Amino acid sequence: MSPRHILILGGTTEARELATALTTHPGVRVTTSLAGRVSRPGAVEGEVRIGGFGGAEGLADWLRAEQVDAVVDATHPFAESITANAARAATATGVPTVVLRRPGWRPGPADRWHEVASLDEAAALLPSLGHRVFLTTGRLGLAAFAHLADLRFLVRSVDPPEPPMPPHTEVLLARGPFTVTDETALLREHRIDVLVTKDSGGAATSAKLTAARHLTLPVVVVRRPPPPAGTQAVPDVAGALERLGLSP
Ligand code: NAP
Repeated sequence: MSPRHILILGGTTEARELATALTTHPGVRVTTSLAGRVSRPGAVEGEVRIGGFGGAEGLADWLRAEQVDAVVDATHPFAESITANAARAATATGVPTVVLRRPGWRPGPADRWHEVASLDEAAALLPSLGHRVFLTTGRLGLAAFAHLADLRFLVRSVDPPEPPMPPHTEVLLARGPFTVTDETALLREHRIDVLVTKDSGGAATSAKLTAARHLTLPVVVVRRPPPPAGTQAVPDVAGALERLGLSP
């Protein structure tokens, strides 16, 4: 009997952990798909393919050609297009699809969060909150802040960002996980007075929120886009394995 083929739509810590867990199951072939956005992706167990499929139809074709038995959409909560494509390809092919989404972050009583719906809203709010900004929303969304010439930005990303970006921008290339001690030191060293983040969730990058709380800094949090209609996401790798009918 040919092995059960599972496609993971990846690019997250959870996708990598799921690939590791699945490769221990005999009779399972696991392929992780990456968009190819970062120059040096972390190591992933099992097979890896890189690059877009060519929309929902391209993904559906790939599922048929590669005889995929199940898909796990473990992409980032803000990767809206691939998630929508995965839902459409699942409908077109009938291949069962599990959505794995790490839970979002929640503010505590001591947090000074300002929740917004988009990067544009974050940019509109910023001048009223501070002048020295720590921006951790990823290297691809800097255009929304490019007109803010009076503010100073510290931008952290895995790969170098490309213009347009604000004129007073310092770039810090780094990949999580980050510790509270290091994040606090970074905020102090750069005299940051406001932090901007997406609600990515997860432990790898949450230390900046704790550090901001300790320093009583305001935080602008971009809310997640809604999941596709009818989606019932699982919050972790164990939940995904259970949905796939496999033990952890
Ligand atoms: P996106 O806007 O949802 O996707 C844009 C296009 O990129 C998709 O239509 C698809 O092209 C291709 N694509 C995206 N993810 C893919 C994957 N895993 N495998 C193959 N093709 C993929 O995605 P994004 O926000 O640019 O994110 C790209 C990747 O980076 C995702 O895999 C995501 O998990 C990861 N990531 C994103 C963020 C974020 O903040 N958005 C943060 C960390 C990691 P085709 O239509 O040609 O198939």
